[in-house]
Amino acid sequence: MDTIPVKRDRDRLVVLVGPPGAGKGTQAKRLVDRYGIPQLATGDMLRSARAAGTELGRQVAAIMDAGHLVSDGIVIALIEEQLKLEATRQGAIFDGFPRTLPQAEALDQMLAGRGRKIDLVLRLKVDDAALKARIAGRFAESGRPDDNPASFVVRLDAYNAQTAPLLPYYQAQGKLVEVGGMGTINTVAAAIDAALAAAGA
Ligand code: AMP
Repeated sequence: MDTIPVKRDRDRLVVLVGPPGAGKGTQAKRLVDRYGIPQLATGDMLRSARAAGTELGRQVAAIMDAGHLVSDGIVIALIEEQLKLEATRQGAIFDGFPRTLPQAEALDQMLAGRGRKIDLVLRLKVDDAALKARIAGRFAESGRPDDNPASFVVRLDAYNAQTAPLLPYYQAQGKLVEVGGMGTINTVAAAIDAALAAAGA
C-alpha cells in the first residue's frame, strides 16, 4: 500500500467513526504510518487487558464477547491515560473511541483542558449487507468471539443506537467528513487522503 509520510509539523487529532467491520482499524494503521502518530484503539486496549489477565480484562470479557459496549468510564479512563503520554503529544488517530455521546463530550473536555481539539472526524460508510459478509469472513479466519453472527448483530445495533448520534454531534462542530468505505483498501485510503487534504488536515 502506498503511504506518503507527512511531516510531523503539528498536532493532528483525527477520529474514525464507522460500524464494526467498516475498516476503521485497517485505515487507522495506514494513517499512523502516514502521520507518524499513534492509533488509540480502545478495542485493542481492552483485548490487551484481557490477554494480560488484568482485573479490567476480567471485568469486560463477557460484555465484549456478547457485543455490548463497556461502560463509558472505563474507556474514557483508558484514553485519558494515553493523552498524558509524550507519544500522543503530536496527535493521535482515534479508532473505536468515542462510541457514545458522553464519550465524545468527555474527549472534547479532556482535549480542551490541554488546549487541543479534534481536527477531523472521518465517517466510513459501509452498508449492512457488506458488513455482515466481511465479519463472517473475519470470524471464519480469526475466531474473534465477538465476530460470531449473534454478537455481530448486537454490535451493529449498539453502533446504530449509541454511536450514530455522534454524527450530528460532530456535524454541528463542522468536523464531520464522510468517506465511502465499500471499495478496496486502497480505494478507501485514497478517498481518505483526498478528504484530509481538502480539510487541510
Ligand atoms: P472494537 O475492536 O473497536 O470493535 O471493540 C471491541 C469491543 O470492545 C466492543 O464491541 C466493545 O465491547 C468494546 N469497546 C471498544 N471500544 C469501546 C468504546 N469506545 N466504548 C465502549 N465499548 C468499547
